[in-house]
Amino acid sequence: MKSWDVIVIGAGAVGSAALRAATEAGARVLGLEQYTPANPRGSSHGHSRIFRHAYFEHPDYVPLLRHATERLESLERESGGRLLHRCGMLLMGAPGCMAVTGAIESAQRWGLPLDALDATGIRSRFPWFDVPSDTRGAFESNAGIVRPEATVRAAIQFALARGAELRLERRVGAVVEDDFGVTVETPSGTERAAAVIIAAGPWASALMPELTPLLRVTRVVQAWLEPRDGTDASAMPCWLYDRGPGRRAIYGLAPDPLEASPPHGLPSPSRYPKVGLHGSDVLVDPDLGAAPVTTADTDAILAEYGAIAPALAGRVVESATCLYTMSPDEHFILGPRPRSRRTFFAAGLSGHGFKLAPALGDALADLALLGRTTLPVGFLSPSRFGV
Ligand SMILES: Cc1cc2nc3c(=O)[nH]c(=O)nc-3n(C[C@H](O)[C@H](O)[C@H](O)COP(=O)(O)OP(=O)(O)OC[C@H]3O[C@@H](n4cnc5c(N)ncnc54)[C@H](O)[C@@H]3O)c2cc1C
Repeated sequence: MKSWDVIVIGAGAVGSAALRAATEAGARVLGLEQYTPANPRGSSHGHSRIFRHAYFEHPDYVPLLRHATERLESLERESGGRLLHRCGMLLMGAPGCMAVTGAIESAQRWGLPLDALDATGIRSRFPWFDVPSDTRGAFESNAGIVRPEATVRAAIQFALARGAELRLERRVGAVVEDDFGVTVETPSGTERAAAVIIAAGPWASALMPELTPLLRVTRVVQAWLEPRDGTDASAMPCWLYDRGPGRRAIYGLAPDPLEASPPHGLPSPSRYPKVGLHGSDVLVDPDLGAAPVTTADTDAILAEYGAIAPALAGRVVESATCLYTMSPDEHFILGPRPRSRRTFFAAGLSGHGFKLAPALGDALADLALLGRTTLPVGFLSPSRFGV
């Protein structure tokens, strides 16, 4: 049996980044994916994701965000693809809301450019939004859209061009570690490696049952809406409106200018703005998949969207479900598998992991190949949950 330096399980955002990083380090790498890269049953599909740096979730992410964006930029250069669109990110909410105050705190701590705005400033600079007069805002111009399917594809192409092997339609059933290496079981046989990276997204606890108490897989809905009465949305930024504790934030993504005149095939719904509510209580078994989108789902989005962006809340052009894998504190979990020395994982990305996946992939490849990483991922360690 051929023995690999590292096997990467999963070819979504994190797995593809880990494949790229491990092959770049010169390792012999095998990737195993149960479906296809960035497949619609996981969490890395849907044409667009927001990237930003003034992180309200926690300032400790900022060095990882800077690293991740540099890695996305280098992937863009190396692949010749167009992975990023810098349209900016506008955070909004009532005075004292976490999204705006947290972003300002991150920007101050790390010296990031960020414009603070009041309601008048928001309305005059971003006329799509009709916000209450006490609204506060923060705008980061160095933010925007990253294209998830193209990014995953580019990272995989990079790895394959440097000798990695990726096998699709291979579901890993078990990962078993011993003193000398790790055995990975698939329906078509076993593979052996010095180390394993598990980047299984919503399926993480199927492979690591000890994580089951920590991970909740939930159904979320994203919808693309045509603006009303021919409103031009082409210059709008990505945005998020923090509606306060206990209420889901509403967020939106700018239309993708590449999709206005796509180079090939039919245009994707991303030529229109995309909207979603952040988070959900609807639990999903990822093997059964999320229930299809209903009009109740899109009506809920439309009602909230229409309240702050009436000119944009027109016809629903398309909608799709996607999965968030939530950790107890909504921060990622990354590190060695509990009671393991050769198996490393990232899980519980809690609906905000795409922009950071290149940094997570680099950290996982470091851990698997070197046993350590210089990237500051200690705050994401599974040990904070006592596992
Ligand atoms: C609607 C929506 C909007 C989002 N918006 C943003 C955003 O704006 N910005 C942002 O940064 N993040 C965003 N996120 C979050 C981000 O997309 C996810 O955190 C990220 O894509 C998760 O990547 P992943 O690699 O962990 O999981 P996935 O992409 O799901 O990849 C896991 C892969 O592992 C494979 N797999 C699982 N088990 C096995 C097995 N046993 N054997 C073989 N293969 C296996 C799966 O088939 C899958 O391909 C959003 C998520 C959603 C759903």
